[in-house]
Amino acid sequence: MSASNLRELLIEELKDIYDAEQRITKALPKMAKAADSQELKTAFQEHLRQTEQQIKRLEQVFDELDEPAKRKECKAMVGLLEEGEELMDEEDNPSDVLDAGLITAAQKVEHYEMAAYGSLRTWADLLGESKVVNLLQTTLDEEGETDKKLTEIAQSLNIEAMQDEDMERGEGEEVPVRATKRNHRSS
Ligand code: FE
Ligand code: FE
Ligand code: FE
Repeated sequence: MSASNLRELLIEELKDIYDAEQRITKALPKMAKAADSQELKTAFQEHLRQTEQQIKRLEQVFDELDEPAKRKECKAMVGLLEEGEELMDEEDNPSDVLDAGLITAAQKVEHYEMAAYGSLRTWADLLGESKVVNLLQTTLDEEGETDKKLTEIAQSLNIEAMQDEDMERGEGEEVPVRATKRNHRSS
């Protein structure tokens, strides 16, 4: 990547995240389809709609900076999404374990985006581009909220996955296990 100043770096990194977001819109429908939990399916579908808006917001950013909206392959996103694909290709995973895996794949994507948008926002601020700052901050907030929501869903799913394992091994009584873990979950 060649960038001789902060503005050029901003443009280059905008192209990277513009590519990443479009790859994400291709992956999210597959992840929603693969997810077993209705809550997780809905979360992926909602984030797909948000991601489509984020792409439009990036186009506004390019426009604001008088630059054409162009993509540059985000190698990190290619890799992160490949990891998610590998997980979905695995046929033997129990559905709740698959869901736990899908959540971590999605959270790795969100964290990449949070790092990218956080830096972009800071650079736009240093360059005095206040409209751009606002647009990027809006997206950064959405990515953060999505990450939090996924953590909440993971907390309930992982408990169910553990429970099934206990029951398969024939350990413990079903009722106390549920009671303890339900209490834990609602606290
Ligand atoms: Fe995004
Ligand atoms: Fe990238
Ligand atoms: Fe996202």
